[in-house]
Amino acid sequence: MGCNHGARCMGYHAGMRRLFAAVLFLLVLGSSAPCVRGEAYDAKPKLVVILVIDQFRGDYLDRFRDSFTTANGFNLFLKKGAYFNDCYFDYANTKTAPGHATIGTGAYTDGHGIGSNEWWDLRRNTDRVVSSVEDERYRIVGNFEDLPVLPGTVILPTAARIGASPLNLHATTIGDEVRLATGGQAKLFGISLKDRASILPSGQTANAAYWIDQASGRFISSTYYMAKLPDWVIAFNTGPRIAQAVKEAGLADTNEFYNLVGRTTAANSYELDFAKALIENEKLGQDPVTDVLTVSLSANDILGHQMGPDSDDEKQMVLSLDHDIDSFFTWLDEKVGLANVVVAFTADHGIAPIPAEAAKLGVASASIDLDALGVSIDAALNKRFSPGMKKEYLMPTQELPYIQLDPRAFPKTVTEKDAEQAVADAIPAAFRALGPPPSPPNNNLTVEGDRKYSDTRLDANPTVAFVRTRVDLADGKIPATEFGRLIAHSYTANGDWYVMVVPTAYQMEYLNGIRTTHFSPWSYDRHVPLGFYGAEFVPGYYRQQVAPVDIAATLASLLGVNAPSASVGHVLTFALKDAAGR
Ligand SMILES: [Zn+2]
Repeated sequence: MGCNHGARCMGYHAGMRRLFAAVLFLLVLGSSAPCVRGEAYDAKPKLVVILVIDQFRGDYLDRFRDSFTTANGFNLFLKKGAYFNDCYFDYANTKTAPGHATIGTGAYTDGHGIGSNEWWDLRRNTDRVVSSVEDERYRIVGNFEDLPVLPGTVILPTAARIGASPLNLHATTIGDEVRLATGGQAKLFGISLKDRASILPSGQTANAAYWIDQASGRFISSTYYMAKLPDWVIAFNTGPRIAQAVKEAGLADTNEFYNLVGRTTAANSYELDFAKALIENEKLGQDPVTDVLTVSLSANDILGHQMGPDSDDEKQMVLSLDHDIDSFFTWLDEKVGLANVVVAFTADHGIAPIPAEAAKLGVASASIDLDALGVSIDAALNKRFSPGMKKEYLMPTQELPYIQLDPRAFPKTVTEKDAEQAVADAIPAAFRALGPPPSPPNNNLTVEGDRKYSDTRLDANPTVAFVRTRVDLADGKIPATEFGRLIAHSYTANGDWYVMVVPTAYQMEYLNGIRTTHFSPWSYDRHVPLGFYGAEFVPGYYRQQVAPVDIAATLASLLGVNAPSASVGHVLTFALKDAAGR
């Protein structure tokens, strides 16, 4: 990589491009060592940062914008950049893995293949779901072999330390396209607390993706990227930073870094300090070839599931993020110069209010007991395929918006189409059988003659809005409506037989240990912020409807590279300066 001529980009606007190209040409001519860095990319940004805040809903910045006091925090987008407050994912499976894949690839699930965080794939594992990024062909790098073992840590044999890779990601990312356009000279890295959130947005050609070992908080990777952690990562892991984060989280010590530190504001500065170490040690943005870094801050999601979007804890997290992001970009300004940096800011999905709190205001929200739903569906299938028996036709764990079948349970003569249709047929009655929620009780009915009525609002019953089999989704048997488009974008061939199930808005599965979640095609799950900072953007507050897929398309246009392979986004031309730099 030693090809830095020390040519510092002199600002970044169209008028300087030719001059810069001429200077660079002379430098290349005058260089004693042959060097092709920069030839493909004259006067492009030195560094593109894609910043994702996990579960950061699109209304948060408007809700709290009067409280943002920093220059380079959220105001980097709200005041100095182009900010879009009407940005919605155009698909129905708003989970973390597909969200991050969508941000990187500019495609939806029907383009990149990632349908959920994990799913049943009986060809790979019959005991448990497989994660979106686990890959048994590799092993995890860095949690034990290079480092002292923490007291109480169970050391798994190498064979059990299953690695990770973008094997299920069937499309390139914007970072991949920059790597391809520069013959691999551009550097590409991904960082998150979560493996899926570092691997999927960065892409197939990433030099490395880093995430944390959930027990210790150490940054780790996979042999897909490297055989051994670089020295600087080992130094970060063995330095004082983990203990500092634990202390900032108000803990004495922990073997549950992800759960306990990961849900606090301390986790954001911890991640951003790792990003700084990476930028410094991997020398990102130090030469004319554009590098790409994706950073996904996870703490907001871990906290948000537990406390809900309308809690004071969430507000404090947003205000703290403003300061952490300000510190990071102020540091980056000194290190690389923000004139040489383009930043895209968004989230992987939104979040629903806590069902009971929405119900207090009169919204027909409800929690769905997925186990009870499964019992009803199994009963209907036994009646049809195995009368008198109690066979289990569904996989033992389920995660909406997909209900996964167990193909092994069905008689050999039953096709996937017929099996899925039988489940789909059973679902409306199974929802009705769930009845009113057991608590809080709100069924004090007055009886007058043969009539019963309530003097107060009743709790809502769980209801289903949409059901479709995998076979029908694959065949395109989807309503030709706006809603149908969201569903079509959610099709995946990954995993086994499934039926897509969308409950009515503000309803969600009963949650164990958390209080709210995201998974649906409804607006609160699809609404995310979108902000750009960079010399080619016209600063402003934009109300046009945009989507996170537009990030990759816009960056590709800006950088003069191909859009990612399955990209369906649009270039946000109305927010870009014209050829005269206006
Ligand atoms: Zn997420």
